[in-house]
Amino acid sequence: MEGPAQGPAYDVLVVGSANADLTVRVERRPGAGETVLGTDLVESAGGKGANQAAAAARLGGRTALLARVGGDAFGELLLDAQRAAGTDTTPVIVDETARTGTAMIIVSPDGDNSIVVSPGANAALTPADVAAAKDVIAASAVVSLQLEIPMESVRAAAAAAEESGTRVVLNPSPAPEAALAPELLSAADPLVVNEHEARQLSGLTDGTPGEWAQALREKGARSVVVTLGGEGALVLDGSGVSEVPGVRVKAVDTTGAGDAFTGALAIRLARGDALPEAARFAVRVGAAAVTKPGAQPSYPTLDELNALSG
Ligand code: ADP
Repeated sequence: MEGPAQGPAYDVLVVGSANADLTVRVERRPGAGETVLGTDLVESAGGKGANQAAAAARLGGRTALLARVGGDAFGELLLDAQRAAGTDTTPVIVDETARTGTAMIIVSPDGDNSIVVSPGANAALTPADVAAAKDVIAASAVVSLQLEIPMESVRAAAAAAEESGTRVVLNPSPAPEAALAPELLSAADPLVVNEHEARQLSGLTDGTPGEWAQALREKGARSVVVTLGGEGALVLDGSGVSEVPGVRVKAVDTTGAGDAFTGALAIRLARGDALPEAARFAVRVGAAAVTKPGAQPSYPTLDELNALSG
């Protein structure tokens, strides 16, 4: 029997992508028509949606993921990684007709990665899938969205969240060629962007992170967070600008740092933090994530976070 209606069942529902990251290191990137030898293949769990869910769940947030994976070994790998992080994977759809999304990553010694993404099952996450998860959206304090699934599905998730009074955290990454749809921008509270995305989406060719954030707010975002790598983050909401200083760490690998930041931000907002306070926590989590290699394997638990930055 169901108990009396209480608060939301989930702190965060992530609606987004799940990819298997296939990484090989090379001495030198191959040119057109060329073959080079690389190191052994490393398979790890990735995709912006799955990363954000893993970050939130590892920090103890009640987290669920709505994504599509293929009925293949990579899909199993991704589901196992989510379960190990503590995510409720009930909403994940295993699509027997599609391959799991993959990112083929070539890492060269200069640190400049070359990446080919095959969206696979991610491209098959439809507005109908989102509609079928309406009750899960309504049962979540925050819905966290990115742009690695079809745009109409992102829009459907934002609309369903608005309808049920669920807060939307939107990380518009990878940054779209065209401007973001106004109804998507106006659902974002906050819009979470790195400096590159902030500049591009603001439409300003130069300026400062504060000016980009202001422009994005004028375009309709309810609040904006610009992440600044090692420099921390800038927050703009109804009470003005707050600068959150970075945490000095020895950076080993920044892969997935922005996703760790966003997952952490989402759970603190779900728990009732004001945006600047949530961003201060998320900056610590982002910093912890760069001290270890990989995306999801680098995400801290609360104990690991406290051991790192007190
Ligand atoms: P993205 O990974 O999306 O490009 P950023 O590079 O801005 O985003 O990083 C996101 C967050 O990760 C930052 O706000 C910060 O908390 C943390 N971070 C990233 N790089 C570093 C670094 N070199 N030192 C400390 N923290 C970092």
